[in-house]
Amino acid sequence: MIRRQRLAALLIGPGMFAAMAMGQQPGSVPVMPGAHAPAGPGAAIPGVRGPALRVAVSIAPLEGLVKPLLPEGSSVTVLVPPGRSEHGYEFTPAELAALAQADLVVYVGLNLEPKVAAIIERHDSPGQRVVCFAEAAGIRDEAGGAGREGPGGHAHEGHEGHGGEEEDGRIDPHLWLDPSLCEKLVPSVAAQVKAGLAAKGAGDAAGTVDAAAAAMEAKIRETDEAWRAALAPFAGRAIVTHHDAFSRPAERYGLKVAAVVRPIETADPSPAQLVGVIEAIRREHVLTLFVEPQFNAKAAERIGQAAQINIAKLDPLGDGDWFKMMKGNLEALTNGLGEK
Ligand SMILES: [Zn+2]
Repeated sequence: MIRRQRLAALLIGPGMFAAMAMGQQPGSVPVMPGAHAPAGPGAAIPGVRGPALRVAVSIAPLEGLVKPLLPEGSSVTVLVPPGRSEHGYEFTPAELAALAQADLVVYVGLNLEPKVAAIIERHDSPGQRVVCFAEAAGIRDEAGGAGREGPGGHAHEGHEGHGGEEEDGRIDPHLWLDPSLCEKLVPSVAAQVKAGLAAKGAGDAAGTVDAAAAAMEAKIRETDEAWRAALAPFAGRAIVTHHDAFSRPAERYGLKVAAVVRPIETADPSPAQLVGVIEAIRREHVLTLFVEPQFNAKAAERIGQAAQINIAKLDPLGDGDWFKMMKGNLEALTNGLGEK
């Protein structure tokens, strides 16, 4: 049973889309002492010793996953600026320069940032180290390729078209929204940080990187456990999201993505697609439509009004603090999924 559907209470705050308009330079954030001291339960992540590294990451969540593994004074440049979608973003010359100059580049792969992958290949800078998240997590994009889900990969349980593998064979690149995959990223980043420090004559700092990595992995596992516990009462419940970013966490934690507002991330939905979303909302008894701050909310609002459901926010990128992003999204989900 679901409770009576209510008229859309448009919960979108006034500041929510302000970031969209900001045409910012790539944000290079210095690593400050204690800057990545984690909030919430668990021990603080111990600091890393050694000379500063210049790091470039493609999207904001990677900043939060990488920064705790870097020595004080290191800089992390996020290539896709705040408020912009990770899909179809054209990098500026300044962003490409930051990429070329970085000691370490961390990107997702699976064709999410084809330009980054192409530049890394072409650039072939001897001192530059590179971590591809998909590779670190054992996920490949070749159809039929081995190990695409890696060891312990999860089963597909009736979530047709949603989850790691799409119906058209496309592999969902939103790896950073699945804590289990983020945990697999950490050792690969730590290994490249250690190699980078060794190249600068600070090989003796490796132990501090290992300690930080172990603490990060533990903290990511806590996030995984928090999601599992909080979403267990909602098993089987369906949601609608703005674009297809949340299939992996939905599958891992027992939810179903009934439809997405923007099936093609870089294009506005057609009227027929909007009607399809409304039909899916009714068919799957969806209570809440989740919009994302990187997209215009107009179409989603029209759907919300037509289907008379709530609108809330999920943020697939956040502001660079991965733990904060995951916490906010979990709260939004548990609030939006209705009564237990
Ligand atoms: Zn996406």
